[in-house]
Amino acid sequence: RGKRAFIAGIADDNGYGWAIAKSLAAAGAEILVGTWVPALNIFETSLRRGKFDESRVLPDGSLMEITKVYPLDAVYDCPEDVPEDVMSNKRYAGSSKWTVKEVAESVKEDFGTIDILVHSLANGPEVSKPLLETSRYGYLAAISASSYSYVSLLQHFIPIMNPGGASISLTYIASERIIPGYGGGMSSAKAALESDTKVLAFEAGRKHRVRVNTISAGPLRSRAAKAIGFIDMMIDYSSENAPLQKELSAEEVGNAAAFLASPLASAITGTVLYVDNGLNAMGVGV
Ligand code: NAD
Repeated sequence: RGKRAFIAGIADDNGYGWAIAKSLAAAGAEILVGTWVPALNIFETSLRRGKFDESRVLPDGSLMEITKVYPLDAVYDCPEDVPEDVMSNKRYAGSSKWTVKEVAESVKEDFGTIDILVHSLANGPEVSKPLLETSRYGYLAAISASSYSYVSLLQHFIPIMNPGGASISLTYIASERIIPGYGGGMSSAKAALESDTKVLAFEAGRKHRVRVNTISAGPLRSRAAKAIGFIDMMIDYSSENAPLQKELSAEEVGNAAAFLASPLASAITGTVLYVDNGLNAMGVGV
């Protein structure tokens, strides 16, 4: 039987989540998607109207099928956590069962089990502020949406993950090196995500024989990255200074994720895999 993957954090065809879905689909996996509630309508409409058809094409010429799209807001674990104003917000009220616990329950009801869990989401309301000017609210919101969201997803999905399964998240080198402009506590959130990758690898490995890895990806012009405001500069910097002087394509990250999720990586867990044209290995730019 083919593997089944749940990918959290797809709302268009520009980000890493979409590329990972495509690489997994090309390798024969069934694709389930979790889409942020406020972005759900436009994503589903665009899908239905064929707006993504060109980017759905797989190497064999067929189109990637998304079996089901689930509304998801990964900052809420269960309905009791959702504040009144969010619950009654027009964009949220139109959907239901979008807390992490409920999405895992729905996937279980619909499909029973999954093999692959991908976390490709992040959010930091104050990302454009230096850390020194970041509020407690902004910092904690970045950690909640970008780091704890992963703990929560794995916590709720692991009971329905088949032994031998794999889980992957996306991180950024700003966790360990100074990247001016990646503010609002987002660098802190990625540091937490990478540290948690090790602890979760231990716990998920011992308890469920599930592997946990993270990909430290180079810069990509995604919707989220454009919102940060410095993405073109980071892409130029990488092309100039990395060992491999080419633009990084989302597909290269997708392929690395497909490898990590596959039996080819059966002894790899708890690692940060750099998919960044080697930029992380440089000490100075030349
Ligand atoms: P993206 O915009 O395609 O993906 C981010 C997704 O997160 C969006 O679909 C957004 O709707 C979703 N999201 C935000 N808050 C959410 C919430 N509370 N619940 C559910 N979904 C939520 O952008 P991307 O750059 O592909 O980001 C994917 C991952 O890759 C992120 O973890 C990001 O930090 C990481 N990453 C990106 C880059 C880059 O240069 N683009 C580099 C390294 C790592």
